[in-house]
Amino acid sequence: MTAGGLEPVDPWQRLDPRRARAQVIRAGFGGRSAGGCPVGALQRPRQIFRFLNWTLQIDMESDRPPRMHRYRCLGESEDGTPCGAEGVESSDFATAQKWTAEHLRVEQDHRSYEHVVRTPWLMVPAEEP
Ligand SMILES: [Zn+2]
Repeated sequence: MTAGGLEPVDPWQRLDPRRARAQVIRAGFGGRSAGGCPVGALQRPRQIFRFLNWTLQIDMESDRPPRMHRYRCLGESEDGTPCGAEGVESSDFATAQKWTAEHLRVEQDHRSYEHVVRTPWLMVPAEEP
């Protein structure tokens, strides 16, 4: 305690860890479902905060950034060195896929690839704070 009886308060320490663990982030594919993860939204730096329910979901808004596709080679050279070559990243799935055929023409033993996708997601509050 300080002389005046006031100490700085960290509101994050007031979050009940059992409650936070009990909540599950629900990932949706378009529906704005209820439930989610409670997050203390600070309104003032001292003590006032409230719990909001948030849902993490794929961004389906019309102005979202495009989903991006890329392929990466999982092939290896004869000495076991991973290739790791990557195609061009594209919002067009077919364009991204074409690179695998081009790479196979150059490296005919490289037949394993992974598809790398970047997808925009949103945290959506159950109600606006
Ligand atoms: Zn390769």
